[in-house]
Amino acid sequence: VAPGLKPVNDDFRIDTATQLCAVIGNPVGHSLSPHMHNAAFRAAGLNYAYLAFQVEDVARFITGMRAMPSFRGCSVTIPHKEAVMPHLDSIDPMAAFAGSVNTITREAGDSLSGRSTDGPGTLRAFADAGVALEGKRVVFTGAGGAVRAVAFAFADQGKVGALTLLARDPAKAARLAAEVSDKTGVEVSVGDLSADIAGALDGADVLVQGTPIGMSPNKDASCVPAEALHPGLTVFDMVYRPHETRLIRDAKAAGCPVIHGIEMLIAQAALQWEGWTGQDCPVDAMRQAAMLQLQED
Ligand code: NAP
Repeated sequence: VAPGLKPVNDDFRIDTATQLCAVIGNPVGHSLSPHMHNAAFRAAGLNYAYLAFQVEDVARFITGMRAMPSFRGCSVTIPHKEAVMPHLDSIDPMAAFAGSVNTITREAGDSLSGRSTDGPGTLRAFADAGVALEGKRVVFTGAGGAVRAVAFAFADQGKVGALTLLARDPAKAARLAAEVSDKTGVEVSVGDLSADIAGALDGADVLVQGTPIGMSPNKDASCVPAEALHPGLTVFDMVYRPHETRLIRDAKAAGCPVIHGIEMLIAQAALQWEGWTGQDCPVDAMRQAAMLQLQED
């Protein structure tokens, strides 16, 4: 091996039979997805490789993807989650409601399907953590894309009892609440994030933190007052950088069961991986790869 080059791992080959997957976005430089998906391909012994593509023109990218039969699928990230939709052959109902696609899969017959794994992935993360949602009262902070996907999944498939959406712009929360309620029949109330959070958490079973508050570099920020947390509340923070957010630390100190943001990231990625390969995902390999990267942050 020439000086400065790393030896190629014996168990990782790229050849003419290699199947390709990728994340597309702009930028894609900080994505954990290549680490996670490639670790799972290696653990499963699959001849697949996953790359990160900075894409400027979505329509031309999809045309290129269609022309390459070994291109099995893509993760789609900001700013392309909506822009890819008109270029795909089918969109699943969850993605249609969320108005965004985070996964493209090459189906039999070479058609390209779009779906959103954020909602189903979060349901899977809760199931894996042993936290039942049926009949529960769930409070969300934020009213952006991720909350939209997860709130609909919780209402439609999680069969929650009632939802509360708290946002700094209550009118935005009210628009999302009306849509979720209309489409699922679940009761959804809304409020102002800072004024109403303590009251909303009183008697709630689950908190889903869906704003970027607490994300690096603002690691000491939290939109939830520590005194509003109680042991009957399961706390899930979508933020995964850092792994232990201020909210997660406060929740542990208050005796709350917690679910880290990385569990959503892993579960939604595992659903993508399973769609592309047709196999069960070796989730532990994905988790190990993600945690290694987070430690290096
Ligand atoms: P988004 O569409 O931009 O929505 C962000 C939401 O947070 C909006 O409601 C926004 O309010 C609100 N917000 C932003 N800054 C705020 C502040 N300083 N105070 C109060 N509210 C604030 O983003 P997203 O895609 O939904 O993502 C939200 C968070 O979840 C991000 O941290 C993201 O990294 C994380 N996430 C994690 C996963 C995972 O797998 N763990 C997956 C997706 C997203 P306005 O509408 O008023 O701007």
